[in-house]
Amino acid sequence: MSNIAIIGGGASGIICSIFASKNNDVTLFCSDDKVGKKLLVTGNGRCNLTNLANFNKAYNTDITKYLKRFNQTQTLTFFSNIGLLTYSDQENRVYPFSNSATSVIDVLVNKLKKCDVNIKQNEEVLTIQQLNDKFKITTISHSYIFDKVVISVGSSNKLLEQLNLKYKPFSPSLVSLKTKEDTHSLSGLRLSNVEVCLSLKNKIIIEKGEVLFKDRGLSGICIFNLSAYLARQNNYNATIYIDMMPNVSKESLINMLQERLKCNFINAKEFMQGIFNDKINNYILKICNIKNEEKITIKNINIIANNIKQLFFNIVGCYENHQVNSGGILLDDLTDNLQSKSIKNLYFTGEIIDVDGICGGYNLQWAWTSGKIVGENI
Ligand SMILES: Cc1cc2nc3c(=O)[nH]c(=O)nc-3n(C[C@H](O)[C@H](O)[C@H](O)COP(=O)(O)OP(=O)(O)OC[C@H]3O[C@@H](n4cnc5c(N)ncnc54)[C@H](O)[C@@H]3O)c2cc1C
Repeated sequence: MSNIAIIGGGASGIICSIFASKNNDVTLFCSDDKVGKKLLVTGNGRCNLTNLANFNKAYNTDITKYLKRFNQTQTLTFFSNIGLLTYSDQENRVYPFSNSATSVIDVLVNKLKKCDVNIKQNEEVLTIQQLNDKFKITTISHSYIFDKVVISVGSSNKLLEQLNLKYKPFSPSLVSLKTKEDTHSLSGLRLSNVEVCLSLKNKIIIEKGEVLFKDRGLSGICIFNLSAYLARQNNYNATIYIDMMPNVSKESLINMLQERLKCNFINAKEFMQGIFNDKINNYILKICNIKNEEKITIKNINIIANNIKQLFFNIVGCYENHQVNSGGILLDDLTDNLQSKSIKNLYFTGEIIDVDGICGGYNLQWAWTSGKIVGENI
């Protein structure tokens, strides 16, 4: 039995504490006033705790060997055993049956208490030092000595710096993107069933679904997922284009628009009415340099079709509110049980490791998987 400190009372620190407490004396430090607090905001308050779909393309790196040791089904069994009812939606996203993240926190905290984990809330770990084969941890109010330490602090790099550990700098992922173009006139608009293409160096990445417009930027799940690729290269300068009619070829669109000329619309505004809503129609005409009162000609039709199929945006940065960070301790610098290769008895779980996923429950799945692996093997 070892005396273990788990620093960070988020998803990965909690599950790690539960499993580690089977064979060890565990103290869980949390800078928040309540463990699991961050889970409250996940999945818009519903906590999308995992995803039952194939996870091959969901992460920045291949984590199959870890997921084999604690996969989505095992995660569901774990939650079921501690009393949580769940359901999955059409896109395989799993939520608590209550549709409330509070239920997830409740069952985890109940289990933590039954496991006799010593929970220290509102106690931020300020320093960590190696003392021979032990660790000295200092918090605002106390100092402690532990045999082993798990760092589960999300994307805070302070402790990594103190320990002189190498890591990939963090960059915001699953985040709204800023555009060079002024999208104020489209702000609040939601486009469904579109195809969004991110052009990145020599690669094109395509996401299908919904896009939301901000004052000067783009949001929505498609955009969040594309932002993951930008975060991983820590460069948010790119181009994005939206195909607003992904199921219609450009040729068919041109034919369809040409047919509309037969309707004898009096001007461009009337020509566009009935295709999209006013906001999009006006935006398209504006970027095509066509005035509302102008008559649409065969020549205009090509430009309109081009913009419907490829509504172009220059990405120049990202907004502040992000769901996850890309970066952290490299898997290569950790053993299979997520122990540091350079500092014995120091372990890592969750977001602090350089593993990040797209939207849909994949990031929490990594928190559960990494937390379970460390908890069981420490
Ligand atoms: C708005 C939002 C929505 C999200 N929705 C989803 C979703 O639906 N599905 C999904 O899979 N993922 C979602 N995520 C991502 C998910 O929340 C994270 O991937 C996950 O919480 C990471 O778990 P973690 O344990 O690594 O770190 P965290 O959950 O960040 O926990 C870290 C904990 O460490 C504590 N801490 C930090 N430093 C110290 C210190 N020095 N001393 C003591 N304690 C410390 C913090 O207070 C915190 O409690 C969402 C994220 C956000 C922000």
